[in-house]
Amino acid sequence: MKDSDVNAKLVIPEPLNLIGNEWVPAISGKTMDVLSPIDGLPFAQIADSDEADIDAAVAAARAAYDGGEWSTLTAAERGRLMIRLSERILENVEGLAQLETRDNGKPINQARADMKVTARYFEFYGGAADKVHGEVIPFLNGYNVEVHREPHGVTGHIIPWNYPAQMFGRSVAPALAMGNATVLKPAEDACMTALRIGQLAIEVGFPPGAINIVTGRGNVAGQALADNKKIDFISFTGSPEVGVIIQTAAAKNFIGCTLELGGKSPQIVFDDADLEAALPVLVNAVIQNGGQTCSAGTRVLLQRGIYDKVVAELTARFKDIAASDSGEDAVLGPLISAKQKKRVETYIEEADAPLMARGSVRQDAPEGGYYVAPAIFGPCDPHAKIAQEEVFGPVLCIIPFEDEAEAISIANDTDYGLVAAIWTRDGGRQQRVSKAMHCGQVFINGYGAGGGVELPFGGIRKSGHGREKGFAALHEFSHIKTIINNHG
Ligand code: NAD
Repeated sequence: MKDSDVNAKLVIPEPLNLIGNEWVPAISGKTMDVLSPIDGLPFAQIADSDEADIDAAVAAARAAYDGGEWSTLTAAERGRLMIRLSERILENVEGLAQLETRDNGKPINQARADMKVTARYFEFYGGAADKVHGEVIPFLNGYNVEVHREPHGVTGHIIPWNYPAQMFGRSVAPALAMGNATVLKPAEDACMTALRIGQLAIEVGFPPGAINIVTGRGNVAGQALADNKKIDFISFTGSPEVGVIIQTAAAKNFIGCTLELGGKSPQIVFDDADLEAALPVLVNAVIQNGGQTCSAGTRVLLQRGIYDKVVAELTARFKDIAASDSGEDAVLGPLISAKQKKRVETYIEEADAPLMARGSVRQDAPEGGYYVAPAIFGPCDPHAKIAQEEVFGPVLCIIPFEDEAEAISIANDTDYGLVAAIWTRDGGRQQRVSKAMHCGQVFINGYGAGGGVELPFGGIRKSGHGREKGFAALHEFSHIKTIINNHG
């Protein structure tokens, strides 16, 4: 895809919500400023919505689902619309990436990659829309039993600020593929690309009410969506603290939910690992997106035989990393907000493990931006606070281990269970250790794997429940209806 001028066009959305294909202000008329993490200055505004706006969006989604144009489309027609949206996103990668970088602060190259993954979500689920089949079950003579996969109806989606566009694709695309009508509440800290993708969705012809977007504060607009009695399912990505609130609201409304809540993911490096391949990946797994990734590989477990060598390499690489504005050569940009910067700096200052090395903040990083020099700690006690809690910043913990059994025990000994990585050339060990990991996804000799839209993803315990990505997400956004026909 070539970057044309149109592609590079930066469109800053107005402070409006998308409800029933109309762009409307918050009913209260309130707006709030959007600050860029690069310099801490306001560059846009969004609607500061409340319960009334959420009610209007849910009503628009209900109308779309209960007999509106959206409900009349065949699965193939829904899929075609989604693929058109995917193509439209690809035509606008550069403008969307510039917007994401200004809004979220991530380095521009990472933002470009995010937009391609976002397009891929709509492509993958657009292609899948007409490939979800039911079953026929043999039963008593004279009976015909069919098992159908039905959409839930209206689905609510609350997403975080760390990957605003990608999370839109990950959460909303599978729901649309199954025929649900959606209401999205993006994060107040970064939601510009979600609004822009909403504009593109209208341009490619999504009918009214299929995609509704309401911006605003979590404890106001987010809470109103979670509490709304007319939604049929809710999908949440964010902190465990809010995850509990969402699950409680879902329980009160007797609806299902998926929770994707974060982690403290281990990367286990055995003595026989290919270190040349592992080293850049170990660093990138916690530097990429400023470490503000639920699946960041924040605990590196090193076997004794390679401990000194890998520590020397990692500390040297960390010292070389400088946080900077998010331009073409940036590796590490600012964190999302002053609040997150303070939180991460407090973890670093109060860390209960020795500091091995710190990177820096480049001299020319704009004043007022939320820059944090990366830090690497070790040897960490596996139970140290810094090795147990999700920091959500560019902070890596090193933990030594003797043998396979100890590695497995340390890796599993957190409240979380999202992702793990194993670095070894031993095939038997790859099998044993991957089976022993208590988590939802295991990488062997790699990490991250470029989005992996096709691959089921999600956690256990404090990392949440339910699966996103792949066909698994289509199951989350649908339920089974069994039709038993006595035709004898
Ligand atoms: P958060 O959980 O507060 O916010 C995530 C989303 O939930 C946002 O859209 C927010 O508006 C909404 N929200 C907040 N309160 C709500 C409520 N009462 N009801 C309904 N929705 C509500 O996350 P945060 O404060 O932005 O970040 C705090 C921590 O959460 C981070 O440090 C990190 O550990 C974790 N986090 C994890 C992920 C992830 O991808 N798993 C993403 C962002 C943050």
